[in-house]
This record gives sequence, C-alpha cells and structure tokens, in this order.
Amino acid sequence: MDIRLVGHDYKYGVEQIMLLMFPEQRPVYVDRDAPESADFVRSELSPDGRRAVTLLFVGGKSAEGEAELPAPPPSEPLLRDRECQKLVKLAFFRAAVALTGRQPPWGALTGIRPGKLAERYMRETGASEREAVEFMQREYYLTPRSASLCARVAEEAETLRKSFSPEDISVYAGIPFCPTRCAYCSFVSQSVEKSFALIEPYLEALIKEIRAAGRITRELGLRAVSLYVGGGTPTTLSAPQLERLLGELGEQFGGSALRELTVEAGRPDTIDRERLAAISRGGAGRISINPQTMNDAVLAAIGRKHSGLAVVESFRLARECFSGDINMDLIAGLPGDCPESFAASLDEVIALAPENITVHTLAMKRGSRLISENAALPTGGDVSQMLDYASEALTSAGYSPYYLYRQKFSSGGFENIGWTKPGHTGIYNICVMEELHSVLALGAGGVTKLTDPTTGYLERISNKKYPKEYIESIDEICDNKYRMREFYAKMREGGARA
Ligand code: SF4
Repeated sequence: MDIRLVGHDYKYGVEQIMLLMFPEQRPVYVDRDAPESADFVRSELSPDGRRAVTLLFVGGKSAEGEAELPAPPPSEPLLRDRECQKLVKLAFFRAAVALTGRQPPWGALTGIRPGKLAERYMRETGASEREAVEFMQREYYLTPRSASLCARVAEEAETLRKSFSPEDISVYAGIPFCPTRCAYCSFVSQSVEKSFALIEPYLEALIKEIRAAGRITRELGLRAVSLYVGGGTPTTLSAPQLERLLGELGEQFGGSALRELTVEAGRPDTIDRERLAAISRGGAGRISINPQTMNDAVLAAIGRKHSGLAVVESFRLARECFSGDINMDLIAGLPGDCPESFAASLDEVIALAPENITVHTLAMKRGSRLISENAALPTGGDVSQMLDYASEALTSAGYSPYYLYRQKFSSGGFENIGWTKPGHTGIYNICVMEELHSVLALGAGGVTKLTDPTTGYLERISNKKYPKEYIESIDEICDNKYRMREFYAKMREGGARA
C-alpha cells in the first residue's frame, strides 16, 4: 500500500493500523506529489497538531476518517508526540472501519498492554471502573467485552500499585530447556535431548548471575516482592538442581518483603514427586502446569509427548505433594482444535479446580514450526467462539480476569487472559504486564526492565540469548548489572526520564 504522510512522520503509528486492518498489505512510502495508485493512504496532520485526516483507497473503494483534539496538544515534545500520533492513528482507523466495515475486538488499540492505558486513565483522572469502560469504548472503539476486561485488570493493577514502595522489584530466572520443542514455540528454548550437557554449566552461570543481582539489589536498598522461575521448563532440572537454584534465589532475594515465589512446572511430563518436594522445600507458593489442550490429537499436533490423562495425573500428584496455588495454561486456536474440543479441554481443567487458569490465543511467531509448516489452524471466528465460551465457563466457575496482554500476530487479534479464583492473583504476572516496577530478568534471553514507577520511564539490559553464549559471557553479564546504579541514582534524584 502506498503511504503518503503530510505534516507528520508517524510511520510507526500508521503501520500499526495498517497491520491491524490490512494485514496482507506492506507499507511503501511515496512523496506527497506522487500520482495516486490503486491502494493508497494519505495521512495528514494539521500544522497545529489538533486535527488529523486520512483518505483511504483500497480495492476500488474509498473512505475518509478524521480525528480532532479538543485543545492544542501539550508543548512538551514527548507528550505532544504521544497525542499527535494517537490522532493520526485514530483518523486512519476510522477510515479503515468505514471502508471495511470490520470492527476488531481491541478497536484502534495496537499495544500489547491495553490494561496499562485504562490504568493510567483511572490514576490520572480518578475515574471509576465503569467510567474507564466508557472511555475505552469511546476513545479506542473497544468492544464492550474488551473494554470491561481492560478496566477490570486496570483496577487489579491499581490496587497492587498502591501496595508497593519505590524499593520494590520483581525477579525472573529463566531455564531455557524443554523436553521437546512445541510447534508454536519461537523461544530460544532447547530440547533436553540436544542440550543435556549444557544444563549443569548453565545452572552454574545462572547462580553466578543471581549472586551478582543479589549484591547490587542489596547495595541499592531494593527488595524483591515476587520471584518467578520460568522458561523453557524449569522442571527439566533434576530435583537437586532445582533445590540449589531455589536455595540461591531464597538466599539472595528471600527477605521479609517477598510475597510470592512461582515455579513453572510447565510440561506435565517433567513433574514427579522428587521435583515437587524440592519446589516445596524451596519455598514456592505457586506452580504452573500447562497442558495447553487436553485433546490427545491436538497435543500430538503441537509436538507434546504426553496425553491429557497424564496432565490429570500430574495435577493430582501436585495436589498431593504441593500445598500452594496451581495455574494451568490453555491455548485457543491450536492446530487441529475446534470450539467443541477447546470447550471440552477447558471443562476438564475447570473440573480440576486450579486456583488460576490462563487462556492464551495462539500467536503465529516467526521461528516456530507452525509458520514453517504452514499448518492449518482454526479460523478467527472459531477462536472467537472458544474465547466466548471461556469467558462464560470461567465466570460461572467463580474465576475472574486479573491480567491481560496481547501479542503480535495472535489469531483473530485476540488476547491472553489470566483468570483467578478470589484471593489467588499471581503478583508477578501483574507487575510484568502493567510494568509496575523494575523486573530483573536473569538467565539466557533475559531482558531486565528498569522502571521508574513515577514517570513510567523504562531502561532495558539484555542478556545473551542462547545458553552457550550466555555461559561464555557470564562475567560480562554480571558486570552489566552495575548499570542499575546509574538508573536508580537518576530515579532517586527526582525521576528517571529519557
Ligand atoms: S514448553 Fe514453552 S518454551 Fe518449551 S518448547 Fe513448549 S512453548 Fe517453547
């Protein structure tokens, strides 16, 4: 699609709406005087930044969209950019809806954290949950369901935010190994078969990084409120290895402020009595057992080597050996699945009564086997039915949504939602998704996000991606932790900003 920008250069915003409404198109920027082509968009912003107009021609049809600010945009450059870009996106979105008649479930919202927007609105204006719902529908064209979800999770985040102090952080430790590779996975995780020899040196390196992070955390007077051991599949570690890892995390971060320690047991085929005992002794209060589906044919199609029955057995074993909360993940939109089979999977999981159930929507990620094999998938309409069923069934079983995020290229443009029984919210999930404070991410592929909760300013420190290079660079990775000094010095002087 030819794109002509007049009076602005918000290419990113324009491309986001193009991807949302015309995913088959690719952007080609043309000069403002170039002749009109078959498919083109002309996006204009007025010189005072208050009004945007988009003219759209696609497939022989045309439409126009407008958006206007009630007052001139703020003069501060970052805030001005935010408002003007929003205006340009809205005008394009309105034109695209008029032309296609299509109303995406998340309206004009393109970000992965829709709850953050509602939460900021509630915080800055003192609006109630109901007012936030109206705001999201009016300003961003969210469907009533999406707007209610957004406001619900925003309310949860706001409650949690108020309970934190500026010294609070969360810590993630990643184990990038799995028994086999799932078809939809684009993560750096390596199958145990191929990388067994790396596990022990990886653990050694990770413990080194945990110690370095612990030292700098104490030096800066920070306190961990939540710890999360994720992956990959942390339970590919043996019971003694898990015990060492959790012991070290407890040693470095297990102060009185710690409210939650989660271990992703992840794949049911890695769960046994010894590992569960090690996890319990390590102080975890929450684990995750993630079947993704209970349908054996779908499990086989995604590369899992266990059955639905094995999930039930693992869950029962966990209930016997572990007294904390259990989360279970399902994915809507997997290859070979259909609304009826998804509903049956969900019913089976609900019958087990875990404290949390997370319902993801399949995302087609580059690097995954699903993309390379061009697998046949349920339609967007099917996925919509699956999610509608999930909403109804989980609500009537006493669960409510507590965190939410979206992913690029997710089936039908839908979302991932964490559901919880009352009083069992996973703190770490909310902190990460709503960026409530800094999250130190340790291990291969970890991206630490240093966040100033007052200004929202964020700085990243990335670790090496693959286990082998992570092990080789561990000293440099530990040294990088000292960048936290500079960030917190700025934050304490009155706010870290760009
Ligand atoms: S369990 Fe998760 S990280 Fe491991 S292969 Fe499957 S999707 Fe990837």
